[in-house]
Amino acid sequence: MAVSPLSSPDSPFADIVVEHSPAAGIAPAPLLGKSLEELTDWVQAQGQPSYRGKQLYQWIYQQGARSLQEITVFPKAWRQAMEHVDLGRSTLHHRVVASDGTVKYLLRLADGQIIETVGIPSAKRLTVCVSSQVGCPMACDFCATGKGGFVRNLATHEIVDQVLTVQEDFGQRVSNIVFMGMGEPLLNVANTVAAIRCLNGDVGIGQRAITLSTVGVPGRIRALAAEQLQVTLAVSLHASNQAQRLQLIPSAGAYPLEVLLDECREYVQLTGRRVTFEYILLAGLNDQPANAAELAQHLRGFQSHVNLIPYNPIDEADYQRPSEASIRNFVAELEDRRIAVTVRYSRGLEENAACGQLRASQR
Ligand code: SAH
Repeated sequence: MAVSPLSSPDSPFADIVVEHSPAAGIAPAPLLGKSLEELTDWVQAQGQPSYRGKQLYQWIYQQGARSLQEITVFPKAWRQAMEHVDLGRSTLHHRVVASDGTVKYLLRLADGQIIETVGIPSAKRLTVCVSSQVGCPMACDFCATGKGGFVRNLATHEIVDQVLTVQEDFGQRVSNIVFMGMGEPLLNVANTVAAIRCLNGDVGIGQRAITLSTVGVPGRIRALAAEQLQVTLAVSLHASNQAQRLQLIPSAGAYPLEVLLDECREYVQLTGRRVTFEYILLAGLNDQPANAAELAQHLRGFQSHVNLIPYNPIDEADYQRPSEASIRNFVAELEDRRIAVTVRYSRGLEENAACGQLRASQR
């Protein structure tokens, strides 16, 4: 896909963007993430009949095979000869169950890196919160992942693996996916889009049940629109004006609020899909009635929805979560101005739920 050359020297994002960082230590490409066609080509290249491609596909995506050894429909001799082939599954490093049933996983990747994934059950759903990078370069001031720095992009199979891992652990089909774990997915567009196509086409999760959350990277929302996906785009706004956004989100300097909102408007035009805006509520900072009025002004006539996220305290920052009364007040101010709004409470809070906290505590 055509993505803007963010890493060119004159780009304001040059110092933080590593779009092509390799998934270190993983060669050749693992089988997870490949389509039925690609797997069929692969088995044929190994001298096997093409129908084994379908079997391999089913065992990888439906049966949860972690190695070729487990695929008992394959001839024993071939399984042994293919012992070295990597399917691309992670291993479990740590697992914590919160009292509300939310399960947090730290998964170990082939090169030893650790990522965080969360399984969130509710009455009718099983939602997986996936990571798109190891760490994150955006350094948002309220975010635990941002405080820990950036290591590398995740490969396609490393994103898909997170969903399969949760599905297998719960013994229940995953219904929804949110790209709200570690990392900035629009700094890893190619692998994120490939993972979404695989999760949709091969794992069987509806695109409409997938949400991609971004803090915004210049040109990338437009590039995402060109992919013609049916996913929900969620944009982390968190401020009602540029000065405030800059205080919280360093990359806002190179990508001002107005420019971001213009690109979001373009996204709505190009895709016909509304945009969700995420807004963390920080007590005394961006939770005042004046902020609600200013936010409503920006979003007037905009096909959008606002998700308010009361701040989850992290050790590395001094922000406070607002009182229930001021949250309700902020909601009322927006509703008075006919802005569609929902308050989203994070799940599993007592177990280091906020973005990146579990990983930070286990290192
Ligand atoms: N990089 C992407 C996705 C990862 S973060 C993005 O910025 O959107 C997913 C969401 O969690 C974002 O809206 C992010 O701002 C929010 N978040 C991060 N730290 C948080 C905290 N301490 N409390 C509440 N929300 C937080």
